[in-house]
Amino acid sequence: MTPAWYRERLYDHWQQSFLVSRELYRSTDGLQDIVLFETPGFGRVLTLDGVIQVTTGDEFVYHEMLAHLPIYAHGAVRTACVVGGGDGGMLREILKHPGIEQAVLVEIDGAVVDFCREYLPSVSNGAFDDPRTEIIITDGIEFMRATDRKFDLIVVDSTDPIGPGEVLFSEAFYKDCARCLTDEGIVVNQNGVPFLQGDEVTQTYRRRKPHFADVGFFLAAVPTYVGGFMALGWASKSPRPRAESVETLRARFLAAPVTTRYYTPELHQAAFALPKFVQDLIKD
Ligand code: SAM
Repeated sequence: MTPAWYRERLYDHWQQSFLVSRELYRSTDGLQDIVLFETPGFGRVLTLDGVIQVTTGDEFVYHEMLAHLPIYAHGAVRTACVVGGGDGGMLREILKHPGIEQAVLVEIDGAVVDFCREYLPSVSNGAFDDPRTEIIITDGIEFMRATDRKFDLIVVDSTDPIGPGEVLFSEAFYKDCARCLTDEGIVVNQNGVPFLQGDEVTQTYRRRKPHFADVGFFLAAVPTYVGGFMALGWASKSPRPRAESVETLRARFLAAPVTTRYYTPELHQAAFALPKFVQDLIKD
């Protein structure tokens, strides 16, 4: 029998393919098409509307960098909000920090949460049932517009800016995020692969600049977000968190009961060093 391949169709001119050992789930009648399959190289792979969301093989890179980096930079995060993140991996990493008192997950598609709880339990690893977790099923832009809650950290763990995720890259959403952050609060997000999605970096920079004291990007190499390193967006109400010394970050890291496979304090600082072509994308 010919082996089955799954082809991701994120770009018109380039595709990545996975050898599929077994398809585990397929649903095409909900808000988003959901497909889950098993692979020899990356473990279980979840796709939404044909785009890779998470693989059990390399999810640690993405989740660790978007959760631990802002938490160690801030130093005293107590309240966090994850927008998107229906697989539960971001909640899992955030809740490793004992200082977290409340973690709110705002996810547009309840089917993703239900499905990931059942078919990808290692990704959330109990985070959905943690007493500090609150799950709200609604559109992130509506939640942020209407809420008067304040968070020390907002992690936008969204799909790409096509389909339901598009609004999470709008200036209106960033403005509301700024309003919902505490004085030294930070918002981080997935901002695509600069080599292939450079416009996303430029637009995010321009749309955030009017609303935050410090706007920037840091990089991480996630194998299944193909096309080179990925840009992760950073915006904070104060320049202090990004300016923390590596000694301070190291002291916080060593004091926390958190083990990592990708994040280190040294990598944290280095991740903000941008190649020239990425610097050129965010020129004022
Ligand atoms: N790590 C992934 C990536 O970059 O490909 C993101 C994974 S996570 C599963 C993305 C989640 O964002 C999905 O569960 C999707 O339903 C959710 N999402 C998309 N648009 C949203 C919106 N407007 N409000 C809240 N959640 C949204």
